[in-house]
Amino acid sequence: MMRALHAFPGGLHLETHKEKTCAESSLLQPLPERIVLPLQQHIGLPAEPIVGMGERVRKGQMIARASGYVSVPVHASTSGTIVDIGLHPVGNPATPDARCIVIEPDGRDEWFEIQPVHEYASVDPRELQAVIRDCGIAGLGGAGFPTHVKLNEGVENAVDTLIINGVECEPYITCDDRLIQEKATYVVAGARMIAHAVQAKHCVIAVEEDMPQSFAALEKLVEDDIELVKVPTRYPAGGEKQLIKMLTGFEVPSGGLSIHIGIVVHNVATAAAVYRAVTRGEPQVSRYVTVTGDVDRPRNLQVLLGTPIHDCLRTCGFREDGEARIILGGPMMGTHLRRLDIPVIKTTNCVLVQPAREPAAELPCIRCGDCVDVCPIKLLPQQLYWHARSDDQDEAQRYHLFDCIECGCCAYVCPSHIPLVQYYRHAKSRIAAAERQRQGADHARTRFLARNARLDRQERSRNGALPAAAGADIAEKRAYISDAVERVRDRRLQRDPNQGGDD
Ligand code: SF4
Ligand code: SF4
Repeated sequence: MMRALHAFPGGLHLETHKEKTCAESSLLQPLPERIVLPLQQHIGLPAEPIVGMGERVRKGQMIARASGYVSVPVHASTSGTIVDIGLHPVGNPATPDARCIVIEPDGRDEWFEIQPVHEYASVDPRELQAVIRDCGIAGLGGAGFPTHVKLNEGVENAVDTLIINGVECEPYITCDDRLIQEKATYVVAGARMIAHAVQAKHCVIAVEEDMPQSFAALEKLVEDDIELVKVPTRYPAGGEKQLIKMLTGFEVPSGGLSIHIGIVVHNVATAAAVYRAVTRGEPQVSRYVTVTGDVDRPRNLQVLLGTPIHDCLRTCGFREDGEARIILGGPMMGTHLRRLDIPVIKTTNCVLVQPAREPAAELPCIRCGDCVDVCPIKLLPQQLYWHARSDDQDEAQRYHLFDCIECGCCAYVCPSHIPLVQYYRHAKSRIAAAERQRQGADHARTRFLARNARLDRQERSRNGALPAAAGADIAEKRAYISDAVERVRDRRLQRDPNQGGDD
């Protein structure tokens, strides 16, 4: 029986501009002169290097280990020699430079010994998660959340439905479409492995209506255990909350996670990476990247992680003498790149070249309400804008700033050309910084009070006025214990700075 689909609020019909890249087979991007692998290509703690300068490494060899539960390792994406471990540009607006391991390739692209898992269905889901973690897999849909963490949530909670998301709703981006067309067997097998790892009752693979070749490729492979669904082409249908709403009618509660309603969502490329990890023991060392827009040969490329963006642009006929605006990601949610020597990482899905243009002048809000009509989360974007602009952090949060998925629909329709998403991103980073500062101050205050209580206790003990243990003040005891715990934690941190409590 055909699944009934549900509409999500708001959204936009956009020109897709996908025809140039989705019909052409992908190309293998040549090996670059240098591979630059950031230690943080995922959400969570950066990985910790386990190789030294001058060391020879092979493709697929772990070169940095995960440094906590929410962290994944980094693997060499080709064979060669480690020539640097230090700060390099990575194109992240918040941290433009980050620690990276640099490999000078030897041109042999020689693999490390890798260990496949035979008969995954008989393997305990937790073991499967460990394999996926050790292969460094982080969500390839763009968020970069460590896949094993999401799988673990599935094991600890009952999962009714696993959704494999092939809905690539941003204009221009076709890397998932192309991956499905070329590697549909990996996607379907990976979906089955993830379903086993989270013990899901149902598994759905969703693609957009304008992906007919992908749909046909998947249709040949799915059986009764997987439902294949086409969803209408409407931006942002590929957003996790919007896709869940369309497929199930359920809404993820504000501030909640999809697992709270028994649903987990993984991207199609993540499913393919899981397949490679489990059946071949292959770590995540490459990905599909769409290079498109104002270039002579727009194409999807299979790129080794760590390859510089400008190498990919050259392959696709980027005219270096022209004035251009380079976007990392799509036109709606991507970020403007100011330099091209930054590397492709696990979350790089698209490089879009657009003609350089002056942004339209920002005008005052005329309270037209257009932004409200298109918001897929049913927020009040103009109210959020007022509070973000005036740095009223409490009010911005009261209007659910952190539920905003930064889809850009509101800014797209705003007749006053207000860069609304930039205001929201700025407000979110200000609130996050204030929260970190508050936590730091609370921590210092607790330690100060605990220390005073301890000194006072020692003083009274010396003067013979220490109360019997049974009669000692409970608050004082708590302060003493808290101080002792803090001192032990400090000592551990000094020994191993990675024991920061993320586990
Ligand atoms: S669309 Fe722009 S001008 Fe209209 S209410 Fe929203 S922020 Fe104001
Ligand atoms: S960017 Fe945020 S506020 Fe604007 S439409 Fe998208 S979810 Fe709504």
